[in-house]
Amino acid sequence: MKFYSTKNKQLRVRLREAVLQGLAPDGGLFMPEFIPAVDAPYLRGMTFQEIAMTLARPFTDGELSSNQLQEIIEDAFTFPVPLYPLSEDLHVLELFHGPTLAFKDFGARFMARLMAKFTVRQDRERLILVATSGDTGSAVASGFYAQPGMRVILLYPSGMVSKIQEQQLTTLGGNVTALEVDGSFDDCQRLVKQAFIDKDIREQCSLSSANSINIARLIPQSFYYAAAWSALPGSNTPLVMVVPSGNLGNLTAGLIARRMGIPILKFVSAMNANDVFLGYLEKGTFQPRPTIPTISNAMDVGNPSNYYRILDLYENDVRNLRKTVYGASFSDQDTQQAINQVYDQFNYMMDPHSAVGFLALQQFLSENKVNDWRQIILETAHPAKFKDIVESCTGRPVRIPQRLAVCLDKPKHAFTMSSLFSDFKEWLLSGAG
Ligand SMILES: *Cc1c(COP(=O)(O)O)cnc(C)c1O
Repeated sequence: MKFYSTKNKQLRVRLREAVLQGLAPDGGLFMPEFIPAVDAPYLRGMTFQEIAMTLARPFTDGELSSNQLQEIIEDAFTFPVPLYPLSEDLHVLELFHGPTLAFKDFGARFMARLMAKFTVRQDRERLILVATSGDTGSAVASGFYAQPGMRVILLYPSGMVSKIQEQQLTTLGGNVTALEVDGSFDDCQRLVKQAFIDKDIREQCSLSSANSINIARLIPQSFYYAAAWSALPGSNTPLVMVVPSGNLGNLTAGLIARRMGIPILKFVSAMNANDVFLGYLEKGTFQPRPTIPTISNAMDVGNPSNYYRILDLYENDVRNLRKTVYGASFSDQDTQQAINQVYDQFNYMMDPHSAVGFLALQQFLSENKVNDWRQIILETAHPAKFKDIVESCTGRPVRIPQRLAVCLDKPKHAFTMSSLFSDFKEWLLSGAG
């Protein structure tokens, strides 16, 4: 299979290039040249790994042997993906059982192993530069941890990430180096972007980006949609799946799973105040805006990149997209009430992102009078990552999972760095990392 750029369908590359380049040279996003079909009923009774193999095979055909793909999948998905019932019709799909307690572990772990497979024969170590405001960085760093031929440099803004996030970013060690930058997230991003175009750095280092638009992060996210459908009883009742949305990667992966033939009738895209995509669904115009900070901060995206992939899948036809995707957005105050309501009603602790999903589902059900449909909310993060908010809404202590407790106890290791490019460059070229 080849992958084309959303800006130019004639520009086609192999999976290896698409994964190692991240972004197409013309600034477009890579898309598979066709969406392979799967026979959904055939997936019933399969393990998560078997479903992942079945879905991933056509994307990697000719690039990886079946054994290589199997190794990647078995090594990447070592944690459960439970579908937990809140009521007869409503389930939550818990996507937070990976090492960094958020669904981004699926994409990051798969991408890291795929890149390592494509790099292994090279003599030079591949250097992954990641600017992070918190969540994505920890999933990416943890995904690349101990991967052969890979070295990760994480840049984060000093004093601007939560204590939990900082511990997750700075305690891995090994092939992961954290740089605490005296500046903002934008400064971190600027340093990374400048490094990619700097001639001296490019000569000396083999750089790769691991940002959220990499196609290797999207493909594995389609696996859990298929797995959730196959695990759900009552196969003839329509199914709606609710996706807490920010950069729209998760939603795009769901739409791809549906296009493959997984019988998901509707998607609900749940947003916070950063609801540019809702504007598109309602008015048919896409107007990026500056980001607004909220308590569901992993969804604070004012210009969602994967919008262009959705346009591509639906051939710019917003009316057709509306038949499949319903959108809704909610305030922080609504979200806090929802965390409390879900706890009272179901005795279940939801993180703020999933709580936005709960609200969007209620609105969809009441507007469409389809309460008898089967409903799945994607639980994108563990409540312990947002401990303070969840505890203040429920009045109950949040249990900290062992894997997080261990990392909270480890000593922090980070190099401090100014926000001057000349300092960063000198440090990189000296091989200090
Ligand atoms: C990244 C993230 C989201 C948003 O997912 P997108 O694929 O960017 O739309 C939602 N919830 C959590 C917890 C996240 O980390």
